[in-house]
Parts: sequence; C-alpha cells; structure tokens
Amino acid sequence: MTDLYRKQRLKMVETQIRARGIEDRRLMKAMETVPRHLFVDEAIISQAYNDSPLPIDEHQTISQPYIVALMTEALELTGKEKVLEIGTGSGYQAAILAMLADHVFSIERIPALATKARRLLEGLNLFNVAIRVADGTYGWRDEAPFDGIIVTAGAPALPEPLTAQLAVGGRLVVPVGGRFTQTLMKYTRLSEDPNDLKKENLGGCRFVDLIGDHGWQAF
Ligand code: SAH
Repeated sequence: MTDLYRKQRLKMVETQIRARGIEDRRLMKAMETVPRHLFVDEAIISQAYNDSPLPIDEHQTISQPYIVALMTEALELTGKEKVLEIGTGSGYQAAILAMLADHVFSIERIPALATKARRLLEGLNLFNVAIRVADGTYGWRDEAPFDGIIVTAGAPALPEPLTAQLAVGGRLVVPVGGRFTQTLMKYTRLSEDPNDLKKENLGGCRFVDLIGDHGWQAF
C-alpha cells in the first residue's frame, strides 16, 4: 500500500513538477517523500496525486502539487530559513516547508483545520512547525523577521503588515487579484525600507479567499 503511494509520488514529481520546469532538487525530494494522501479525505484518497487542487474540510482546498512546487521554489530555501505560512489548511504545504527550512510558522483562521494539521505533522515527526489560530494577514510579529513568507490564499492586495516582517533579502509569495482568479506574485525585500521591493509575476492562479483585516471580508 505504502509502496503504491510512493510510486504515485515519484510519478507526480516526474510528470507534474520536473516536466514543468521546476529545478530545485531538495524540493523535488521533499515532494517525493511527504505522503500527500494523508492530507486529503479518505473518500478522495485515490485522487491525492492528481494534477489538481482537492477539497479539504471547511470548504477549503489543498493546492495543486505544481502550485505548491512553484511557490516553494520561489522562496529559494536552503535549509537555514525561518518561514511564515498564512493558510495552513491541510498542512501539506507546511510539511513540504518543514523539510526544506529550519523553522516554519503557520497561521490558520479555522481552528478545526489547525488542529487536524498539527496532529498530522506530529505524526510525521515534523516538529519544526508551529501552528497558530489567528488572522494571518497581520503576520506573526513576535517571530519576525522571516526569510520567506508564503500566503496560500488569494488576497485583494499585498497585506501590508507582511512586508514589514520580511527580512531584508527575504522572499514573499502571494496570490493577488480578484476573488476568483489571481496573479501569483513574488516580492523580494531589497532594503531596510519595507516598500523597497523587487516584484515578479509568476503567472495566473486560483485560490480560496484570504479572509481578514488585510484581506477580504467574510461573506
Ligand atoms: N496551504 C494549504 C492550502 C490552504 S487553503 C494546504 O497545503 O493545504 C487556504 C487556507 O487559508 C484555508 O484553510 C483558509 O481557512 C486559510 N485562511 C484564509 N484566510 C486566512 C487568514 N487571514 N489567516 C489565516 N488563514 C487563513
């Protein structure tokens, strides 16, 4: 059984990740290792390695594997970094980050998701992830600065508190745009001035809403 999923993971990385131009070897190794099928519901476990996002609890989604790879590669992790994730969701992205960075801080606004993700990550012996229930659009001020910040929900604009918590030289990846489609943006902080940012467009994407004081209002 485990072996069957391992084969599916290797195939996923080969056909969805490497074939699309991702080059970070450590990242690919992490995606070959983390058991993505444990992060989805039993009922859809056979789809866990599909080339698509999948529903998780509370009307949220686990991102498509390629999007996880694209966003993670943009953080340029070497193993020493302190990373902040906004939108823990299933915890899958956090697990990938945990394998590639020194420490991961992840914020989720829905308590039930945070609890489930915490349990899963502990079960996988990934003890370098701290999960907190809060409005992540404020960041995690006590732990700043971060070498990487990844927002895994769609924002109307770059949430202003986050750039202040990005280390000089740090990378921030965030989907920015409308409620239904966004552009994946990468910002690199260039100096002490938090507004001094290099901006790159990584392409179109579609995420669930980032809901919070510096995001969208809940319906
Ligand atoms: N990274 C996740 C996918 C997350 S889906 C994974 O790997 O599975 C987006 C998540 O962001 C949802 O769980 C949603 O509840 C959460 N979210 C939305 N707005 C948020 C906010 N302001 N702060 C923290 N989490 C938020």
